[in-house]
Amino acid sequence: MSSLALVSSVPTSVPPVVAHPEVPLVTGGQVGYANLDHAASAPCLELVRRAVDELLPWYASVHRGAGFASQVSTRVYEQARNVVRDFVGAPSDAAVVFTRNTTDALNLLARSLPKGTTVLRFDTDHHAALLPWRGRQVRRLGVPASPEEAVAALDAALADCPVGPRLVVLTAASNVTGEVWPVAELAAVARRYGARVALDAAQLAPHRPLLAAEWDVDWVALSGHKLYAPFGAGALVGRVDWLRAAEPYLVGGGATRQVVDLGDRLGVSWTAAPERHEAGSPNVVGVHAFAVACQALRQHGWDAIAVHEEALVDRLREGLAAIPGVRQLALWDADHPRVGVVSFVVSAPDGSGLVDPGLLAAALSAEHGVGVRDGAFCAHLTTRALLGRLGSDDQGAAPGQVGVSRALRASVGLGTTAEHVERLLAALDELVRRGP
Ligand code: PLP
Repeated sequence: MSSLALVSSVPTSVPPVVAHPEVPLVTGGQVGYANLDHAASAPCLELVRRAVDELLPWYASVHRGAGFASQVSTRVYEQARNVVRDFVGAPSDAAVVFTRNTTDALNLLARSLPKGTTVLRFDTDHHAALLPWRGRQVRRLGVPASPEEAVAALDAALADCPVGPRLVVLTAASNVTGEVWPVAELAAVARRYGARVALDAAQLAPHRPLLAAEWDVDWVALSGHKLYAPFGAGALVGRVDWLRAAEPYLVGGGATRQVVDLGDRLGVSWTAAPERHEAGSPNVVGVHAFAVACQALRQHGWDAIAVHEEALVDRLREGLAAIPGVRQLALWDADHPRVGVVSFVVSAPDGSGLVDPGLLAAALSAEHGVGVRDGAFCAHLTTRALLGRLGSDDQGAAPGQVGVSRALRASVGLGTTAEHVERLLAALDELVRRGP
């Protein structure tokens, strides 16, 4: 029967991902273009694109319909929670709230903190992890000169912290330098003082396994678009108690259990987390893509991912070091573990200062088909501190003003080839020698 054939062909759960040798890893739309900006958003995995194609004819509103398409979507959506929970290595009772991205996830957590919570965080965080805590007691932990100094700074700050709920915000890998933070060590310090830990895993998630339970972190935030899925789906994964007690992040359908007319007002009771924080029709297709990407990465294998990326990033760093006037940004020692993200600045050969990163990025794109990022990477404090160490901060600031220090960033991933890296290095070498 044709209807049965149709029914059996729809995805009713996140499918096991089977990689075929003939299926390219990432979508082919970028042939000829060297995308060295994976840290901003990674290109879609071909398997993810196919999974989205398969679901598109069937999506419908979740949790709200008895119709077949609605049941399919509800199943896919709920299964995705399990996949994402497993992907971050969280315990089986961890809540998975789907959000738009990491920024959204951390803002949701910020809105869920109990009254009187003190937040401790490093200045090196991405703005998504740096800023949502405004209006709370915040302890700044600065820009540590080494991983050991980071651990000591946290220890000292917690020892001096008022009693009451405390949240330590950590970043798993820097989006400016690619350096991997000592998450387990920092979480152990937090635990000694009874503090909780939130981890911004946006930048580590595409490169290394996340081990939330092993590292003893309470919440993990991540984004699908950095994990080779399209935009619009991310998650906050972790302990349910604060999420359960908090006011809904958004109010509307889905977050409400019951609304009654009490005459002078409405009486509203809210659903439990995670639905409590997911009001409105959710992004079923985006969440499915996100979950399929999680599965695809695990099946591709973290060792294979690391081998591919380490070869590229080693060559990138070595090649950049050989170009006159190029200096790489780093918080810590050159041999500190890092993912495939390298930021750098270029000094003009005539000694007139730094070459404008925006001009270099534009020339790399227009003349060589190489896409890199330029700017301060939504981490203004980090970029300024690192450029300050090189004696080159606040370029372009008007007198008496603090400017935004800028640099270039090249980042690699599964869509990157050795040719892309060589093209960047040759192009940069030519641009530097040619001069402004
Ligand atoms: N945290 C880090 C370390 C990032 O690199 C990014 C994005 O660049 C974010 C958070 C924010 O991610 P999103 O824009 O997906 O919310």
